[in-house]
Amino acid sequence: SKMGTEQNVCSFFSGSISGKFDREKWLNNMFEESLKNHDFQVYLQPKVSPSHSQPCKAEALVRWIHPEAGIISPADFIPLFERNGKICKLDLYMFEEVCGLMSRWIREGRTVTGISVNLSRYHLKSAGSDVWKSYQEVKERYGIPDGVIELELTETVFLEDNQLSFVKNILDHFRACGFTVSLDDFGFAYSSLSLLKDFQVDILKLDREFFVNENEKSRKIVENIIRLAHSLGMDVVAEGIEQMEQVEVLRDMDCDFIQGYVYSAPLPVEEFEVWREKYQRQTADMNC
Ligand code: C2E
Ligand code: MG
Ligand code: MG
Repeated sequence: SKMGTEQNVCSFFSGSISGKFDREKWLNNMFEESLKNHDFQVYLQPKVSPSHSQPCKAEALVRWIHPEAGIISPADFIPLFERNGKICKLDLYMFEEVCGLMSRWIREGRTVTGISVNLSRYHLKSAGSDVWKSYQEVKERYGIPDGVIELELTETVFLEDNQLSFVKNILDHFRACGFTVSLDDFGFAYSSLSLLKDFQVDILKLDREFFVNENEKSRKIVENIIRLAHSLGMDVVAEGIEQMEQVEVLRDMDCDFIQGYVYSAPLPVEEFEVWREKYQRQTADMNC
């Protein structure tokens, strides 16, 4: 599984609360209180331009820091909250936290790193065609400029029957409000190239799957998807990159951004700010 792979994320549930039912009940009961206590936290994982020709960006990933259970990984609760609808609240909460962070960066005159947030497909489905309104409201309330927040939608969003005009309409609204839209986990499930024909997205995120057990064939596919994306005016982010040799190959293929442990795991906000400062210093030195 690609979830919960960081060293510091351990499974609390191997111990006392082991039954699936008990565990889900426990998580559900904790949800509201944890939301109130800010136990859900934004971790930021850098996305780096392999040629260092653009400033870094970051993806916001949720971590549930529970006072007793420790760090609970998204794999342990996202699927549950998708099933029972709590995901809408959580996605919006994460988005609002990110807006709060960005408005602080603006206030303090610091670098405003572009940040992406994830939006579950169940969220789109249950919130309906007005889903963009709550995002626009929060964005405006925090005074966030256009073009700095990216919304990540997984390719499965686009694949449900008869959803074409529904999803298209939502994407158009999001983009009209100044959000960038990216297609997450591209190539993971049933991605069809017609997605690229039917939907206007700004960024393609190549799934980690392409980079585990790489071979000549997968490299050819990646190289040509990058070329295709560029010809359609999209940027490409490669996800789950762990080795420097992969970075070099992807840089030669003109991949725009790299996200993976090779640069950094997802970090708490303060640690990300430290990482960013160090990165900015290093690339400034390189460009002299
Ligand atoms: P994702 O959006 O595809 O996020 C990338 C996942 O890959 C993250 O897992 C990240 O920690 C992991 N990753 C990054 N680099 C590497 C690497 O080099 N090697 C490996 N093995 N893994 C890497 P994470 O944080 O556990 O999140 C898993 C998934 O949970 C995310 O996949 C996303 O679908 C979902 N998720 C996380 N936060 C949110 C959220 O706020 N809302 C929603 N709806 N979903 C979220
Ligand atoms: Mg994502
Ligand atoms: Mg992904």
